Amino acid sequence: MTQEDKPDATPRKPQAARPCPICGKPAEQRWKPFCSKRCADVDLNRWLSGAYAIPVVEDEEGPEEPGAGQA
Ligand SMILES: [Zn+2]
Repeated sequence: MTQEDKPDATPRKPQAARPCPICGKPAEQRWKPFCSKRCADVDLNRWLSGAYAIPVVEDEEGPEEPGAGQA
């Protein structure tokens, strides 16, 4: 743990880019932190897949109309 880990305090080095988390290739400035749009899409799909994997409780509005069940 160092105080120099602050992003704003660390001068950016062109070749200090992290490797693409998808394929490990050097990340492109345009697609950071990925190397290409393809890898960005892959990560996005993973994220979406994970999101869809979460059980979602849908609010189903009952067909009952207000006052319809009252006698
Ligand atoms: Zn990549």
